[in-house]
Amino acid sequence: MLDKLKSSFSSRDELINFVASITPHLQDLTYSNEIIGGKLHGEQRLSKIDPLSYCRNRNYLDGSVTKLSAYIRHGIITLKQVRDKAIESVDDPHKIEKFIQELAWRDFWQRIHYANPEFIFNDIEEYKTGFTADDYQNEMPTDILSAKTPNAAINFFIQQLVETGYLHNHARMYLASYVVHWRRIKWQVGAKWFLHHLIDGDPASNNLSWQWIASTFSNKAYIFNLENVQKYADHRVDCSSQNNPELNFSYEELNAKLFKNA
Ligand SMILES: Cc1cc2nc3c(=O)[nH]c(=O)nc-3n(C[C@H](O)[C@H](O)[C@H](O)COP(=O)(O)OP(=O)(O)OC[C@H]3O[C@@H](n4cnc5c(N)ncnc54)[C@H](O)[C@@H]3O)c2cc1C
Repeated sequence: MLDKLKSSFSSRDELINFVASITPHLQDLTYSNEIIGGKLHGEQRLSKIDPLSYCRNRNYLDGSVTKLSAYIRHGIITLKQVRDKAIESVDDPHKIEKFIQELAWRDFWQRIHYANPEFIFNDIEEYKTGFTADDYQNEMPTDILSAKTPNAAINFFIQQLVETGYLHNHARMYLASYVVHWRRIKWQVGAKWFLHHLIDGDPASNNLSWQWIASTFSNKAYIFNLENVQKYADHRVDCSSQNNPELNFSYEELNAKLFKNA
């Protein structure tokens, strides 16, 4: 018989100490970021969303993204609330189509997961890279875990993931692609690593996105190059070519380097 968890606390500190006492396995995870738990903070964040700017600059790492994912993931804010708030902020919903589409992605992944729970940790299709699943490693290399890869931009994203528990969508794509395609590691290994660190960690959105990047749930592997990072990153990221030797190639060169069937 499961014990009912304590649910009323005299202060936030008491709540934090209680959660720490029942989750000793998570004690290595201490985050420094602006995502604070609770309905009040979720609603405050929701009141500040700017879907119009989002549609203009969402791919930039310093773009107007909402950082609502943790609240949505943990059931504090619903997708419907976000959609309604967004529509309310404009005179014509068509102007924020891109924003609504991103919300729809979350809903789509949830539905796929619900209908096909076996998709979450198994390859849905074969890799389209010319390699078979057996060609990909089962362990995450230590230089990735310790943010000491040869590439400063990748190390920055790893540090952000580990220190804040949040990454912009584009940074998630870069990092997942680097892990699977440059280092040839099974997407499942990367997906578990993300789930361990992300505050919004969600098996459907996370694992199905990793499969999309890997090409086991898409027609083509997702890759990027340094020029793309330079375009979308901000001043915090070292995008110099000398400090990102594995990324500084044309797409043609990368395809030839990374894939067997190029
Ligand atoms: C490799 C990889 C792993 C991911 N892992 C997760 C995860 O564990 N949990 C998670 O919630 N999302 C995940 N995503 C999707 C997306 O990156 C995050 O939802 C988004 O970056 C969260 O930041 P935000 O709230 O500022 O999003 P915004 O860009 O402001 O978007 C608003 C909301 O729309 C939804 N959304 C936006 N983009 C996507 C997307 N591509 N797929 C699904 N939903 C989306 C989210 O609920 C998000 O909170 C992953 C994407 C990739 C490429």
